[in-house]
Amino acid sequence: MFSEDELLPLSGLQHLVFCERQWALIHLEQQWGENRLTAEGRILHERADSDTCELRDGVRIWRGVRIRSLQLGLAGRADVVEFHPQSDGTAGPFPVEYKRGRLKSDVSDLVQLCAQAMCLEEMLAQPVPAGALFYGRNRRRLAVTFDESLRATTVSIAQRMHDLFRSGHTPSAVYQPKCDRCSLLEICLPGSAARGKSASQFVRRCTRLCRQDQPQGDVR
Ligand code: SF4
Repeated sequence: MFSEDELLPLSGLQHLVFCERQWALIHLEQQWGENRLTAEGRILHERADSDTCELRDGVRIWRGVRIRSLQLGLAGRADVVEFHPQSDGTAGPFPVEYKRGRLKSDVSDLVQLCAQAMCLEEMLAQPVPAGALFYGRNRRRLAVTFDESLRATTVSIAQRMHDLFRSGHTPSAVYQPKCDRCSLLEICLPGSAARGKSASQFVRRCTRLCRQDQPQGDVR
């Protein structure tokens, strides 16, 4: 179990799944870059995160709900939490996460939604077996079941995030095709900051060249 002071942003899960270096640049080094994709996502979330509550067809809908889990060590906001009437008279929480574009090839969207569900379970002491992802491109909902496999993956990624945070270490840049759609491409510079091209090695090379250019007896 984590303490309140140890909680990390739940939104970082998607950065970590995409690239551990991206997560470290954003969450350890406070770097942020915005491209068209992140701007569209931010606008979509601003519309969803409106701190409102409404009742629609018997379903109570809360937007911008603050959530946290001491078990996962995460805190953040859920875009939308719907409370669906149950046969026993209670209302079952059902998280809905808004995304631009469509379902990604990695598990980032699923893990983020599952982490929200696990937060709600811990806070409300109620099971949250399912939720949905809403994709802006086709304006469709994708139903998601929080099975054991997805929960285990979510726990493992949250643990990895805490391990990286404790280490305080930003992984080296390794160029991959996905770098071209990364919002931090110009900050990260994976083509020039990769392993073997560190700043300290660059300085050492420059120092060596300067010494070679200096006249004999002038080296300090
Ligand atoms: S540019 Fe590539 S290596 Fe750098 S943070 Fe983005 S995805 Fe990771």
